[in-house]
Amino acid sequence: MEKNGQRHRRRLVLLPCPFQGHINPMLQLGSFLHSKGFSITVIHCKFNSPNPSNHPSFEFIPFKDGLSGDDISSGDLVRIIQVANVGCKSHLHECLSQIMTQRRGGQNDDVACIIHDELMYISQAVANSLKLPSIVLRTTSAATFLARTAILTLKAEGYIPFQGIYVTIDSASQDPVPGLHLLRFKDLPVPRSKTLRGFEQIVVDSYNIGTSSAIVWNTMESLELSLLEQIQQQCQVPVLPVGPVHKFAPASYSSSLLEEDTSCMSWLGKQTKNSVIYVSMGSIASMDEKELVELAWGLANSQQPFLWVIRPGSNSYGSDQWIEELPKVLRETLGEKGCIVKWAPQKEVLAHSAVGGFLSHCGWNSTLESICEGVPMICRPSFGDQKVNARYLSHVWRVGLELEELERGQIERAVRKLMVDKEGEAVRESANNLKGKVELCIRAGGSSDDSLNRLVDMIMSF
Ligand code: UDP
Repeated sequence: MEKNGQRHRRRLVLLPCPFQGHINPMLQLGSFLHSKGFSITVIHCKFNSPNPSNHPSFEFIPFKDGLSGDDISSGDLVRIIQVANVGCKSHLHECLSQIMTQRRGGQNDDVACIIHDELMYISQAVANSLKLPSIVLRTTSAATFLARTAILTLKAEGYIPFQGIYVTIDSASQDPVPGLHLLRFKDLPVPRSKTLRGFEQIVVDSYNIGTSSAIVWNTMESLELSLLEQIQQQCQVPVLPVGPVHKFAPASYSSSLLEEDTSCMSWLGKQTKNSVIYVSMGSIASMDEKELVELAWGLANSQQPFLWVIRPGSNSYGSDQWIEELPKVLRETLGEKGCIVKWAPQKEVLAHSAVGGFLSHCGWNSTLESICEGVPMICRPSFGDQKVNARYLSHVWRVGLELEELERGQIERAVRKLMVDKEGEAVRESANNLKGKVELCIRAGGSSDDSLNRLVDMIMSF
């Protein structure tokens, strides 16, 4: 790689936010940039450390994140993010300055810039103090970005009850949100957290891009062109939609924190085309016992084969114990019709020809992965951006069906509608069409490919 006529190794430092849905797009971006000749150093919190053996060509450096066992077990995402940002500042400074002065292979490695997750906003100040250029990676949709900003405005205008402790944005209200007509109040991306104040602060801190040189965004023009244009107008630096970034990394590339159970792939191999409903609620969302049993009945009664991910810790039963508690007749049907795993190679699953539908919590990565493969969805969001994604899937892109409740009758009907009934044909067709539009963004000269080239050029100009 050349800069100013000299042979140079250019190193990029990546800093992901320590959650699966953030680690994946950051490392996928890293994998693409590595293929363009950059060396990659990933600096990361100790909490949810990525597994270096999955990425032999990257260097990994953990730093102290200041998170206590209590912070982590609280499950309060706002608290974890805030504590990590405060707790890591001095370690991050030390870690970055060491990387910048380190000599590798007898020569100074030239660190071109840091690319950090928007939620690791403290990196900006640290990079600035070291005179290192920085770039922000956003891992949710543009619609979520605008909706989060809108929450702050709504609060200022008195629409949202706010008493220091987060009480409620009326979670049932079907009223449209002023200024965001596609979203109802119930679709607003409120976090799973005790305080709205902390959430507000994170929105302010992470949306202040300061002296960053660009915003790289894991979304694409075929999904969000007008929103991206709106955001670009308000922004001084380039907004680069590079999504779906997983499509620019090798297909087998995995950054899973949990071990993937690949046995489900041979099970899928025995199923007929488009017959399987894949069920997963991602890496954070959980279910209570009643919902779990309703889901089991709904899947069994739908008569469709299913592949169901039940993540350890995602319900209050022990990981396998809940099956033992089910009525015998249900257990038998589940055994005949289904395959249950603790964690799946999701991208491969969605790309498998046997999979014809995805019952999902609608995390942004899952949304993109499903859209890319033309797999229509049943949308069952829990919290945060999942609600916005679900609304867009069902009412804007029209590739998903909304599931109001995890109730057996509703689940059975939704699965049959999505997978087999005539009524579901339009959704299946839209999913297929949208897949085609996404392919246009990814191919050479498409908008995402173009954004990635601009990103590489920008980094080379630092
Ligand atoms: N995932 C996976 N195996 C599973 C379930 C999920 O590899 O069994 C991956 C999925 O492909 C996605 C990520 O975990 O890339 C989850 O991110 P998402 O944004 O969908 O949801 P979150 O976990 O952040 O709620």
